[in-house]
Amino acid sequence: MTPSPTDLPALRAALLAWFDRSGRALPWRVGPEGGRDPYRVWVSEVLLQQTQVARGRVYFERFMEAFPTVEALASAPIDAVLKAWEGCGYYARARNLHRAAGIIAQEGFPAHYAGWRALPGVGPYTAAAVASLSGGEARAVNDGNVRRVLARLGGERQPTERWVQARADELLDPARPGAWNEAVMDLGATVCTPKNPKCPECPVSASCAALASGDPAAFPAPKVRAEVREVRAVALLLGDTQAAVLERREGTLLGGLMGLPTQLLAPDELPAAALERLAARLGARVTGELGTVTHTMTHRRVTLSVYGGEGGPPRTPVAAEALSRLDHKALALWERREGSLFAERKS
Ligand code: SF4
Repeated sequence: MTPSPTDLPALRAALLAWFDRSGRALPWRVGPEGGRDPYRVWVSEVLLQQTQVARGRVYFERFMEAFPTVEALASAPIDAVLKAWEGCGYYARARNLHRAAGIIAQEGFPAHYAGWRALPGVGPYTAAAVASLSGGEARAVNDGNVRRVLARLGGERQPTERWVQARADELLDPARPGAWNEAVMDLGATVCTPKNPKCPECPVSASCAALASGDPAAFPAPKVRAEVREVRAVALLLGDTQAAVLERREGTLLGGLMGLPTQLLAPDELPAAALERLAARLGARVTGELGTVTHTMTHRRVTLSVYGGEGGPPRTPVAAEALSRLDHKALALWERREGSLFAERKS
């Protein structure tokens, strides 16, 4: 069900009146409606792509303290930016933020959606959010929250991307696009939640087809999960948790990040064969197995067999690099082994 042209003004008025009363006070909502601080909005949108708002707030404050302005971010060394990004998800996002900050520091903030889209790492959602929240441009945002709210309002069980964007564009209030987008985000986060939506408190319940159906939480139908791919690899720890051989990884296994030298296993390959290739490449000798760690990402589950060794390239300080959680787990194996050897020596 789509609101008729006569219902639309009432629906917009109801949601915006609710937002004016109950909108969330968030640290990136600085400045007037439609004229929010673009730096804060941009950073928050990139940061919140993989983080819940409650946790995202902490990371956001930490990032703002380290880099209070776009100029401060642009002039910071990339290693400092990656370090400040620890815990915030894909490091490619931090690299893109840094690159884009360099462009903005030279050219100023983009005036329109197209200018934001042209920056590294800025996709349609982030561009629409910053252009509307900071520039007052009539661009509708479309993310998981928006998808759920619009699917319920329209009574659509299987909303396609195209369907959601068309509904979002249609409902967007052209007079208050920034407030409208913030209002839909807030409704999805606080009232029209994935489980147990609070329909009695909802300002747009009179226009909601999912509520009329009697089972609003059944909209939209759950997405079929993509299969998780199993990835097996071996890693060699040359050194210890203070100083070790670290390499910048390439390819699909945490590409772009620094980490322990790693070799992916070919299908049906035994770890020993991959380990031999890795040790030969590094000019190192394997001294023993430290253990196995596993790490699950969105579409991959990595099983990493970690070995100790000697020889090979010079060591670098581990604390200076932003490492993935997989590498932290691998280094913890070494600490555990050292701890048990120490205990054995004492007994
Ligand atoms: S009435 Fe319920 S299901 Fe419909 S939009 Fe409001 S909270 Fe969501």
